[in-house]
Amino acid sequence: TKYIYAFEEGSQSMKDLLGGKGANLSEMMGLGLPVPNGFTITTEACIEYLNQGEKLSESLLAELESQLKRLSDTTGKAFSSDDYLLLVSVRSGAKISMPGMMDTILNLGLNDENVEKLAQVTNDPRFAYDCYRRLLQMFGQVVYNIPMAAFDDYFNEFKKEHGYESDADISADDLKTICKYYKDIYMEEVYKAFPQDPLDQLREAIEAVFKSWNNDRARVYRELNEIPHDIGTAVNVQEMVFGNSGERSGTGVAFTRNPSTGENTLYGEYLLNAQGEDVVAGIRTPQKISTLNDQMPAVYQQFIEVTERLESHYKDMQDIEFTIENEKLYILQTRNGKRTAKAAMKIAADMVGDGVLTKEEAVSKVEVRSIDQLLHPAFNPGALAETAAISTIGLPASPGAATGKVVFSAADAKEQAAAGEKVILMRPETSPEDIEGMIAAEAIITTHGGVTSHAAVVARGMGKCCVTGCSDLDISTKEKRVTYSGGTLSEGDVVSVDGSTGCVYVGEIETVSAEHSAEFEQFMNWAEEASRLDVRMNAETAADIKVGYDFGAKGIGLVRTEHMFFGAERLVEMRRFILSSTQQDRQRALDTILGYQTADFEAIFRLSGERPTIVRLLDPPLHEFLPHTEEEINTVAKQLNITIDALNKRIEELQEVNPMLGHRGCRLAITYPELYEMQAEAIIKSVMHLKSEGIECHPEIMIPLVATVKEFTELKAVIKAKVEALEAQEGTSVSYLIGTMIETPRACLIAGQLAEACDFFSFGTNDLTQLTYGFSRDDAGKFIGEYVDRHILEVDPFQTLDVDGIGQLIKMTVEQAKAVKPDIKIGVCGELGGDAKSIQFFNQLAIDYVSCSPFRVPGAMLAAAQSQV
Ligand code: ADP
Ligand code: MG
Ligand code: MG
Repeated sequence: TKYIYAFEEGSQSMKDLLGGKGANLSEMMGLGLPVPNGFTITTEACIEYLNQGEKLSESLLAELESQLKRLSDTTGKAFSSDDYLLLVSVRSGAKISMPGMMDTILNLGLNDENVEKLAQVTNDPRFAYDCYRRLLQMFGQVVYNIPMAAFDDYFNEFKKEHGYESDADISADDLKTICKYYKDIYMEEVYKAFPQDPLDQLREAIEAVFKSWNNDRARVYRELNEIPHDIGTAVNVQEMVFGNSGERSGTGVAFTRNPSTGENTLYGEYLLNAQGEDVVAGIRTPQKISTLNDQMPAVYQQFIEVTERLESHYKDMQDIEFTIENEKLYILQTRNGKRTAKAAMKIAADMVGDGVLTKEEAVSKVEVRSIDQLLHPAFNPGALAETAAISTIGLPASPGAATGKVVFSAADAKEQAAAGEKVILMRPETSPEDIEGMIAAEAIITTHGGVTSHAAVVARGMGKCCVTGCSDLDISTKEKRVTYSGGTLSEGDVVSVDGSTGCVYVGEIETVSAEHSAEFEQFMNWAEEASRLDVRMNAETAADIKVGYDFGAKGIGLVRTEHMFFGAERLVEMRRFILSSTQQDRQRALDTILGYQTADFEAIFRLSGERPTIVRLLDPPLHEFLPHTEEEINTVAKQLNITIDALNKRIEELQEVNPMLGHRGCRLAITYPELYEMQAEAIIKSVMHLKSEGIECHPEIMIPLVATVKEFTELKAVIKAKVEALEAQEGTSVSYLIGTMIETPRACLIAGQLAEACDFFSFGTNDLTQLTYGFSRDDAGKFIGEYVDRHILEVDPFQTLDVDGIGQLIKMTVEQAKAVKPDIKIGVCGELGGDAKSIQFFNQLAIDYVSCSPFRVPGAMLAAAQSQV
């Protein structure tokens, strides 16, 4: 294998091997731009180094020698030369940019002897010793892990004592003193001297960059950004150019467009007589890029040309690092600039307008992940940077950012929110009874459960910030207190929650709010034009449905009727139905519920109009409706007018060992057909009522958890009979479909037979995943994390489709169903319906639509478009 590539040998397409920085340096050199010469040690060399005992191999060292020789030949400089001293930078650069995670060393090659020569040759001792003190500091930090403060504290103190405002003012003699002191720090901190041989420096620096791939910061960053741990970093060795060689030199950073608004104006800063990170580190206040036009018009003009050239070459906004040495411009880095989602949309739109990008290309340029920013408030990045104290990290279950006072029960959340407080609901987990508290809270934090736990699903549905699985938190709901590794919080203490990263912070952090721009609308239209799959929403409340339709959903893929039974009065009737002993009481309860449901459905269908709406009939186990605490039981006994003993007995009868595998879904209706009959009646009546107002609706009635054909056909007959009776009674007809949710593996296996009886299928991926793996989704949070860490699973299958297993099951089901009935409508609801990677797979099958929570609709639309282009 070849371990090292000269910049002349590489190109943009070699990012895997050369890293982003190296590949782009090569590309720029190929474009003829002024890039200092150098070479790139590959990511493969890094991986090999880390896997094989952290030793530089003989063959790598041999290639290094010949590359250095080549660099000497092309630059006319050498490590050993008195007159033409070669100094280099050693720069890390992975395939995916990891800003600030890995380190860079500048001015490598200097030592006690040649720094003096450099001073003489350049006739500028200040410059020579400025380079040396920078090298000593960076090398010490990066290679020997000497704390930055060891250098900085002394440096700042020295400046203060001698009255220096700016680094550039420090005299040569004083820089010499500083260098001498820095060398002493080496002896004090690591008991060895700064290596004087440039080749030793280089070898040690290369090893340090390789090793930094595995430091904690880098690991955490990769975890947060889903970057694989095994791709390694490349190392770039590049001839130095000097922005610190006087007032006709400088260094800076520029974006070709404004990265927060997207506005098409050069956006950047620079400092004269400065080097490296001086601009970013905020050592002096940098100058706006436009003032360079006054100071060095020719350089400015050339820079403008370079930025335009780079942007049109990469067809994307560029983030460019440059240095000027004695009025000569050098380009040191370019990459696609990070930007807010808002800027991303504007830039894409402008580039389409200018004919640089096609609509399809524009659609593929915006990251699906970034869309979330547009829909939810986010923490002000500046304010976030100042808040270092992360108290816990959980799973980013539902994006958004919120600050508020901690409360530990839904009741407290409701009460305090009603009193005008902003509250964060912190719970071991949530259950349907907590709904009102969740609605009242700004954000939800749980210690148990994963990203498909109750809290997560409900929060996403509401578009509410939520972090789940914070196993580090120990909540005492009784004492209203939470203990975590860094301390204790009591009710009323303020925390900030970032649902996009899973981080919870102590204290308040400023947020910036979301907005819905014209660019966004236009962009989503392009996405829609480009996609094959339709996107529907999972929603049942008017507020959610409006949000989904606003975002361009094509219909409703899932109305979960059980959510409608949890309001205070309805719960009473539902309990009456389940718990009463007389048929008369049960019927009375159902009649009351029928009234509620008819009104609910009417509101939903009115919002949908012509657009299809799938209503799933009652699904959850009955015990979810039962009272649990003693207090609740007392109240319910009174409400239903039965004795506490009788009630307890009935509750006991209904107890199940494993309710999620118990009496639920269509099984409920096999034993209590009047439940589905009532729901069918509510659906059809509301549709008839709307029809009388001239609104034609298309209800799609869905029977959940079917495992046998007979289950489906029996219930279908019950529903059809009801509908026909209503049609006869009202003298009008209604168009509707009856289909099933595919969520048991058995249903997949008999897909052909089922399809004959069904108008549509909708994959319920949460239950299908749970049942296929045999993982309880409420308990899987306890071990899935470890499974993923240890690569037993590559991804959490509740978050991203398991293509090899469940994906194949879905594929087979779709093929069998379409073979029997080519026009059967097939969709996916459940969490995977909103996941970009899963959508990529669904797009390859004969699936007609995906459905997800309203706030995930734009992301799903974009993912559907990107899967197609
Ligand atoms: P990062 O990945 O953190 O941006 P870089 O490798 O880009 O780190 O280095 C940081 C800065 O160091 C660059 O922006 C540039 O100003 C300076 N630098 C790197 N290499 C050279 C070089 N060969 N000559 C002059 N300055 C350099
Ligand atoms: Mg850089
Ligand atoms: Mg289900």
